[in-house]
Amino acid sequence: MIIEEYDAKSLVRTARTSLFSWAEVYLNPYQGCEHDCVYCDGKAESYFMHDDFGQRIRVKKNAPELLELYFKKQGFFPVNREKTSTLVDYFPNLRESADSSKKKKFVLFIGGGVCDVYQPAEKEVKMTRNLLQIAYDYKIPVFFLTKNTLILRDLDLLKKINEESYACACFTITLADEKKQKIFEPNASSSQERFEAIEKLRDEGIHSGIYFYPTLPFIGDTVENMNSIYKTGKAVGAEFIYCWGLTLKPGRNKKQFMKALQDHFPEYYPKYKELYGNEDKYGNLDSTKLDELGLIWPEIKGYKLGYELRIDYTSKRYVPEGRIETNLMIAEVLHRLAYLKSFFIKSSKYETRQLNLAANFLNTFSKDISLMSEEEREKLDLDKVITPYIDEYLQEKKSKSLRLLEKEAYMSVSKFLELKEIK
Ligand code: SF4
Repeated sequence: MIIEEYDAKSLVRTARTSLFSWAEVYLNPYQGCEHDCVYCDGKAESYFMHDDFGQRIRVKKNAPELLELYFKKQGFFPVNREKTSTLVDYFPNLRESADSSKKKKFVLFIGGGVCDVYQPAEKEVKMTRNLLQIAYDYKIPVFFLTKNTLILRDLDLLKKINEESYACACFTITLADEKKQKIFEPNASSSQERFEAIEKLRDEGIHSGIYFYPTLPFIGDTVENMNSIYKTGKAVGAEFIYCWGLTLKPGRNKKQFMKALQDHFPEYYPKYKELYGNEDKYGNLDSTKLDELGLIWPEIKGYKLGYELRIDYTSKRYVPEGRIETNLMIAEVLHRLAYLKSFFIKSSKYETRQLNLAANFLNTFSKDISLMSEEEREKLDLDKVITPYIDEYLQEKKSKSLRLLEKEAYMSVSKFLELKEIK
């Protein structure tokens, strides 16, 4: 394993919220990942990563400086730091007023995409721990998604952050069977270890959930595997299970996956060739082949299981300091409605697009929508199809429509699976 350091030009990127994550700021302190998962999308040429992604880890040596610089530019102050090299060290009573809590905070996703920030290299490098310490110093809520139980090393910091604001440490779990899991995720912690880590995190009051992603056709979407992940997830206290299918981007990503399939599951090789034969640039499967191959979207099966076990299909949103709670809560409702309508109810694309657009608008809107009159709200750049959902939330402080739609989605997927004779 080669570990090499370099000075990065940039570190932080911003992103829109979605059901995948409510984080708005992302960073990757590493490039490359020792876990070397066979299906890893980060290996795709579109991310401009190096060829030996799983054997050579590039560390952004200056990541801590870049992160501090970013926080400072946002107007934040390291309120939890003992020595700040500012007047606050001499006049401690200034500390409170220097607190950045009046600025608009956000959830910081440490990791995502082209590395796992708790891959084995982190044990020595301790870059993630450094960044987490900085997040704590600046009182910034954090979000993690990993396949390595090394995250438990940093439980002390996660707890401190969670006590002050919010820390969510999630695990990707795709295959309950260890033999199969080792084929696709050779150097990650076992699924059993990940389940145990979730239990530990939940016992400590840290938020945690499962990303059942990617759900591998024919291998991960079996009744046995899906039941096992949902039931064990429920038993260890996972707050949600986010279920999503597999993408295979043409090039390195697809080539490596197909090679492993040929070696370990040759019986599925021709089926995958058909399913992903469309060479979609985003790696999406050819949905016209699903029926022919006897497949169902895993999201459909996952939704039914989650509903029956009373486990959420995504994480609950946290409202960071300085943000407008009602706006963000309504944005969450709108994103959820859009997901359910597009996936399970099959309503018009126009409506789901408007729901997501409105959610994005409210995420950044600077006025509290609950303090506006009906006439003022009417002048906002929001489509008419959105108005009833906003009005309902403002009156009830919750969304009955969302609860009803969740039930309707459950009935609809149950009926669909019954017709297909799938349990
Ligand atoms: S843990 Fe994530 S980033 Fe690392 S190899 Fe696996 S899929 Fe890729």
